[in-house]
Amino acid sequence: MSDKTKELKEKLFYTKKSAYELEGEAGVAKAYEFARGYAEFIDHAKTEREAVAEGIKILEAHGFSAYEMGAKVKAGDKLYYSNRGKCLLAFVIGSEPIENGIRISAAHVDSPRIDLKQHTIYENTGVGYFKTHYYGGIRKYQWATIPLALHGVVMKKDGECVNVTIGEDEGDPVFCITDLLPHLGRDQGQRPLDSAFTGEGLNILIASRPYATEDDPYKTSEPDDRVKLTVLKYFNDKYGIVEDDFISAELCVVPAGKSRDIGLDRAMIGAYGHDDRVCAYPILMAVAELEAPEKTAMCIFADKEEIGSEGNTGMQSRILADIIAELSASLGADENIVRAHSMCLSADVAAGYDPNYPDVFEIKNSAICGSGVVLTKFTGSRGKSGTNDASAETVYKARKIFDDAGVVWQTAELGKVDQGGGGTVAMFIANHNIDTIDLGVPVLSMHAPFEIISKTDLYEAYRAHVAFNK
Ligand code: MN
Ligand code: MN
Repeated sequence: MSDKTKELKEKLFYTKKSAYELEGEAGVAKAYEFARGYAEFIDHAKTEREAVAEGIKILEAHGFSAYEMGAKVKAGDKLYYSNRGKCLLAFVIGSEPIENGIRISAAHVDSPRIDLKQHTIYENTGVGYFKTHYYGGIRKYQWATIPLALHGVVMKKDGECVNVTIGEDEGDPVFCITDLLPHLGRDQGQRPLDSAFTGEGLNILIASRPYATEDDPYKTSEPDDRVKLTVLKYFNDKYGIVEDDFISAELCVVPAGKSRDIGLDRAMIGAYGHDDRVCAYPILMAVAELEAPEKTAMCIFADKEEIGSEGNTGMQSRILADIIAELSASLGADENIVRAHSMCLSADVAAGYDPNYPDVFEIKNSAICGSGVVLTKFTGSRGKSGTNDASAETVYKARKIFDDAGVVWQTAELGKVDQGGGGTVAMFIANHNIDTIDLGVPVLSMHAPFEIISKTDLYEAYRAHVAFNK
């Protein structure tokens, strides 16, 4: 090939580039630094409630204060609104008229997990268990034989709300779902992955010592639900709750333990719940660090994405439209015009191309870990069904913002056509007449108890949202 042809090729062809090449050593060092803050956040934010609480801590440290609907706002105000402690909206009022539009970034802070049923504690053959009902799309077999922790809240009969966390501190006990030994696993092993474990079979082992006292020692001949009594005595001593109180509780079983660096180069992070806190943290920091911006900027931590964004803390609720209406009213603006001129980056993870499973990906349109944040025009399944398919004009707007700021980004779909699919909050925000496009970090082993991301991609997500808010 002649030099001239090579030149022409370089001019006309698109080549995906690595963040390691484009960022260089100094940029990668900044990515590792940013990742430290992220790891700290994710270790303390395993449920949507915890993510909202941690988010508020960060916002308050950056000078934000609580907003109440109906309150007067003015340019420069840094405010947050906690929607029932499970969904968070933070915003900085810009100096430009709000009718020029709001820059919105939205991530979700719920992750797939295993919730306790309302009647949950029982005993079988000397072992105490929680009955559970899983939340979101999990591959059930991945949740057996790993240490599990319990997180959540209990509303007691007297109206007190008790926070429960067991299994995260060094000295805490953890819980577990058992599996068969290979010696007896022949029948189970013949079953397809998706049916080898049943939803009803995800019972969590929580105790095995029968309750006894000096005056009333345990007798094998009279089992009498004494292990269950051990469990309830523990909850009563520690939290003052009785069995009825589990009815008005939201208790979640999640993988126990902290995030860890992955690989000898520490280039990746393994943790529970990257989907979608790996996007929630950068959008929060990009808004938290804003000082007197021109455009009004907003970031959203949404709940319920993993189960369809329904309910009053999910993105199908009116909360975003209501807050925009309130801000518009306070600033004397027309909310319809505000929404029409707003733009949203729906910040949700992408499926990272996994060289171990090439069959489900189409390499030309896959997200490569380490090649930056991923712009996704559409999600959905079976012929783009159930998605916001962003317009060429919206893709252009995003592309221009990122290119002008030197953000390392790539574009991708979830996997091969008709291999599966998925959704995000993008379509629910676009339905408010807001230009919306998906932007997220590639994840390996998405929805597994231990997901993997690249630090450089996390950092490029942050840089993308900083550029968006400019
Ligand atoms: Mn997600
Ligand atoms: Mn998900």
